[in-house]
Amino acid sequence: MSIVRRKTRKVIVGDKLHGFVGIGGDAPVALQTMTSTYTYDIDVTVKQINALHRGGADMVRVAVPDKRDTVALKEIINQVRIPIIADVHFHFERALEAIEAGVHKIRLNPGNIKDRPKVEKVIAACRERGIPIRVGANEGGIIERGDKAQRAEEKAALANDYKGQMTMIMVEKLEEYLRIFSDNDFYDVVLSAKSVDPEIVLSAYSECSKRFDFPLHLGVTHAGPPETGRIRSVVALGALLAQGIGDTIRISYAADPIHEVEDGKELLQVLGLRPRTEPELIACPTCGRIEIDLIAMMSEVRRRMAQIKVPVKVAVMGCVVNGPGECEGSDVAVFAGKGRGVIYVSNNEGVAEQVCTVPENEIIDRLFVEVQKFADRVQRGEARLKNANVEIKPPDPIGELGSGWDKIKKDGLALPVMK
Ligand code: SF4
Repeated sequence: MSIVRRKTRKVIVGDKLHGFVGIGGDAPVALQTMTSTYTYDIDVTVKQINALHRGGADMVRVAVPDKRDTVALKEIINQVRIPIIADVHFHFERALEAIEAGVHKIRLNPGNIKDRPKVEKVIAACRERGIPIRVGANEGGIIERGDKAQRAEEKAALANDYKGQMTMIMVEKLEEYLRIFSDNDFYDVVLSAKSVDPEIVLSAYSECSKRFDFPLHLGVTHAGPPETGRIRSVVALGALLAQGIGDTIRISYAADPIHEVEDGKELLQVLGLRPRTEPELIACPTCGRIEIDLIAMMSEVRRRMAQIKVPVKVAVMGCVVNGPGECEGSDVAVFAGKGRGVIYVSNNEGVAEQVCTVPENEIIDRLFVEVQKFADRVQRGEARLKNANVEIKPPDPIGELGSGWDKIKKDGLALPVMK
């Protein structure tokens, strides 16, 4: 079962020195984030961009509210090796200065750069340098803020079915703005229609995917700290991506942007939209059957996994009741209980083989000896990842209702296809 991506135009962001990133078309879904530094503070900004790059971001956006920010851009771009996007609001001159400084993509907000001649100047400069533009509408930027009477009128009109109407206003605004681009024969465009409300995000992007063939940049804006913003973001972005909608994503948190990269990367990986590059940990949630301190053990396993350079799947289970089924496909697994741990490793035939039983205080050290040995075998081409059958019989096997396979055999169920 794999996700069928919606077909869009393709834009290319970057250059030889900073790498090329495709958005849309046949390109994989790209991961981006935004710095939280003052861009004019060159050293701090470069340091953060490099950390985000190492963390797995494909592109990084920076804010350029003042001229001192666009002045700093040239040096920043010199010192990093990842495409940089300038986030422009209110002042179209910042876009022109950023393009001059060598930026790889521009974001314009139709809510605050509205004059056709100004937009046309940015389009012309981008065309000359071969730079794409994201037209990024935000729910917050669409509502009138300056004129009190108009604002009251708009709010009254939106009172009935706010979400539905807001969706349509954002999409219509995008359509109107895009006319400036098509009048200028400029199609190197990415679109976004963000909101803090996941329902609006879902409906706005679904509508955009029906109306436009431009690649889509997905995001839930102002989602809050990771603890509360994570669900809000993942529910909207995950649902869209699973339907094949979305060509680049940015998760927005009120926190160090490395968390945006970590969660964005994990989201793309669990959906099979990005190959996994680091080890993967699965662990049981623990319950009344637990006989060891699995939570403490798991955090130590997680910490040590950062040193493993192969995407080995490690399973840490509290007992053998549900564990074997959940461990199917993991490369190294430990079933802990009664003060000891039984360690299984996928053998050359892809069968999880019991390699040892160790006392509780030796579980982690021994587990990592086995994880490292397995990773080395993968690197030598002697073992395949996520290939193991776990042939451990749980104490309470499947009863007379039969297994899932029995059900498929009996009823001839077809596997669903995601569209
Ligand atoms: S694996 Fe065992 S201890 Fe862990 S949640 Fe399942 S039944 Fe409970």
